[in-house]
Amino acid sequence: MRSERYRECVALLEERQVSLESIADCVIFLHKRYDDDITQKRCLEVVDAVLEDPDIQNALIVSLELDILAEEGNLRSEAIKEAMMKDEGLFGVDELMGLGMAFNYGPIAITSFGYIDKVKPGIIGILNDPKEGTCNTFIDDVVGAIAACASSLLAHERRHH
Ligand code: MG
Repeated sequence: MRSERYRECVALLEERQVSLESIADCVIFLHKRYDDDITQKRCLEVVDAVLEDPDIQNALIVSLELDILAEEGNLRSEAIKEAMMKDEGLFGVDELMGLGMAFNYGPIAITSFGYIDKVKPGIIGILNDPKEGTCNTFIDDVVGAIAACASSLLAHERRHH
């Protein structure tokens, strides 16, 4: 049984054109070098586990709300609105949000987040290149962090086997 907050997160992601499968594919990207037999099904399970974490849920909802507020012109600060609409490299609060999410999942999640943020596989690359008028400043980091946290869960599971 999924929590209401989980369903809110999934609906928000879908509204922003991000499927759970596309996040699971990022987990495969991170984990396949350690386990050739990793499946999308198993990755979906760990993505779900991360999305049931209240800290992750809160960070996700706040982040996506900020993207939507910027996009709809509802941020009061012109400077921040501009920085978010242009996804300025020096803005950095979005990366901090992703790092904050990864921190609870330990060093594997933190380093994986940095790696995925640089390489931008799959959905992260797509999010990073939005069409005019769309603000994806926070969501690419949130999706990268969820994948990084999920890959950390897989790595620890392997260690215990
Ligand atoms: Mg970003």
